[in-house]
Amino acid sequence: MIPRRVTVLGATGSIGTSTLEVLARHPERYRVHALTAHRSREALLAQCHVHRPALAVLDTEGDAAWLRARLAEAGLATEVRAGSDALVEVAEAAEVDTVMAAIVGAAGLLPTLAAVRAGKRVLLANKEALVMSGALFMDAVARHGATLLPIDSEHNAIYQCLPVEHRGGLARHGVTQLLLTASGGPFRGWTASELAAVTPEQACAHPNWSMGRKISVDSATLMNKGLELIEACWLFDARPDQVQVVVHPQSVIHSMAAYSDGSVLAQLGNPDMRTPIAYGLAWPERIEAGVEALDLFQVARLDFEPADETAFPCLRLAREAMAAGGTAPAVLNAANEVAVEAFLAGRLGFTGIGELVARVREARPVEAVRDLETVLAADALARQAAHDWLARP
Ligand code: NAD
Ligand code: MG
Repeated sequence: MIPRRVTVLGATGSIGTSTLEVLARHPERYRVHALTAHRSREALLAQCHVHRPALAVLDTEGDAAWLRARLAEAGLATEVRAGSDALVEVAEAAEVDTVMAAIVGAAGLLPTLAAVRAGKRVLLANKEALVMSGALFMDAVARHGATLLPIDSEHNAIYQCLPVEHRGGLARHGVTQLLLTASGGPFRGWTASELAAVTPEQACAHPNWSMGRKISVDSATLMNKGLELIEACWLFDARPDQVQVVVHPQSVIHSMAAYSDGSVLAQLGNPDMRTPIAYGLAWPERIEAGVEALDLFQVARLDFEPADETAFPCLRLAREAMAAGGTAPAVLNAANEVAVEAFLAGRLGFTGIGELVARVREARPVEAVRDLETVLAADALARQAAHDWLARP
């Protein structure tokens, strides 16, 4: 077996480390070509020792020089580069077959799109990239023959519940609805007034999943489910009204597809991202992921309830942005990124996140997306509007 060569964008994050764990279980199948991180140089150094990539990428030249020196001391041959151009280079490199897109936020858009345009197998964890650029992204997948495999657990579940060839709209395949499950986050059942005093520590303590801080806050506000709704529309060619959010606190069913004959197909498993990661890496085969088998007797029961869009307005804001189309999802995403950063820094209250996103959506016009520049401009202007709102007297 000729090993596949893999680039992991965002290698030091929650998804990145889980990806490396799965890769390390199958050395005969995979070789790590490049690992990237933003500022976590120590963590990246440790990963270079274990995985021996040909290339490592950090954001600044200073951090890259530090890593280069440590690797030279250790006698490792990994080449170190810095900056966003280097991210694009390792995503589109000819030697690479598979790219794990696990950078968080808009920063992942250009390298992820570069991997798509180079026709790679792209494992998409970085949902913000798809939310921002929707149609452009999916057009590029089709035009360049990339293989796009969703890693977000819900979308991975839906992918597994759909026919292998599911392009051309859901109706063509008898699918009537996608049921997107949500844990409900750490504040399920809380009222808007109880939510006002939530701290970053509380928001980052997710009941079922251990994740990066940004997505943890998104899960707590339900913006994560909103971004996932948009993601599902693009990935599966669905209208927003064909995606129903189902709060399922046990996070055992990772999502479902409902068919016209009354069948509902679900994918179940322990909440562990190594399952969708292994699925994406090996597709259409299956490989061992290190995940414990699901014990249904231990799970005992599965509960379902509707989402509370009054206490958690971010879900509604996302659905509205998808319905508005054009640059609206990019504006929503940019405002949310600024809001989450401000919340984590103690400069904005928890309920301020939804308020800030709503204000920025009102302030910024919705434009048709002609090209990537339109998207990047909408993103930049929305961030500016969000910062202006935060700095208001
Ligand atoms: P994380 O914060 O743990 O890791 C992010 C990674 O990206 C790190 O390696 C970091 O160094 C790098 N990074 C951050 N900012 C960067 C920048 N400006 N430029 C270049 N690199 C940068 O995040 P995560 O939880 O692993 O999530 C990654 C992505 O996967 C997100 O888009 C998230 O929504 C998605 N996702 C995560 C989970 C999960 O369980 N963690 C589940 C589904 C989807
Ligand atoms: Mg998810």
